[in-house]
Amino acid sequence: MSSQNTSSAPPTPPVLLLEALTRVHGSGATEVHALRGVDLAVYPGELVAVMGPSGSGKSSLLTLAGGLDVPTSGRVVVEGTDLTAASRKQVAALRRRGIGYVFQDYNLIPALTAAENVALPRELDGVGRRPARREALALLAEMGLDRLADRFPDEMSGGQQQRVAVARALVGDRRLVLADEPTGALDSETGEGVLALLRNRCDAGAACVLVTHESRFAAWADRVVLVRDGAVVDITVRSSAEPLPTVGTAR
Ligand code: ADP
Ligand code: MG
Repeated sequence: MSSQNTSSAPPTPPVLLLEALTRVHGSGATEVHALRGVDLAVYPGELVAVMGPSGSGKSSLLTLAGGLDVPTSGRVVVEGTDLTAASRKQVAALRRRGIGYVFQDYNLIPALTAAENVALPRELDGVGRRPARREALALLAEMGLDRLADRFPDEMSGGQQQRVAVARALVGDRRLVLADEPTGALDSETGEGVLALLRNRCDAGAACVLVTHESRFAAWADRVVLVRDGAVVDITVRSSAEPLPTVGTAR
């Protein structure tokens, strides 16, 4: 794990830092405290799994970390940029270049093919059409979807769409990958394959936060964060002696 700094080396800054993060929806009688003072740091090379009951605040944590929502109080710092103090333009650029986000309901663009969906973030970031398509096809191949590159979302199964959404989040070497239940629509073997890809990204230096219900998938993580009623109640550090689950893909 790269979060442990030796005494002589300069400390490695976290890719993601959440400080005293709160998010309150509504006001008065309808007030909902989605997050109540969450602190979390995720370092390069780390895969952190977030678990907890439905409604505990997992998605809220992820949308705030990804700059998709604004906290009521507290700070979100991504790669040294305080999202709560940055301009909308800065946040947009950071989201395009630095942050890969896998939405729970995929959020693919229906009018674009699988390859076009995956290539889009790169094209928006100024990469030419052809190199962007090449990158997209390479990632789709890693996902076992190369033959479906020119299909539209409504011509694919839920599991296939989910893998396209993961490919779109990984394209362009994002330093922070945030995934909300990215294995929800996948059979266990395909799910393990997606986890192996996320793990590879982390081993290559990215920081990943994975929301999951399944301890089988959380077993790929360096740390497991348990959220309950909007607060972090437990952090389990996986022993490095514990073997990672083995799977035939990508590792
Ligand atoms: P989880 O992902 O763990 O299921 P969420 O982060 O989606 O939980 O939700 C945490 C709490 O915040 C829940 O009580 C939920 O109903 C509430 N909540 C989330 N988003 C909103 C919103 N936009 N408006 C009102 N309440 C919300
Ligand atoms: Mg959720």
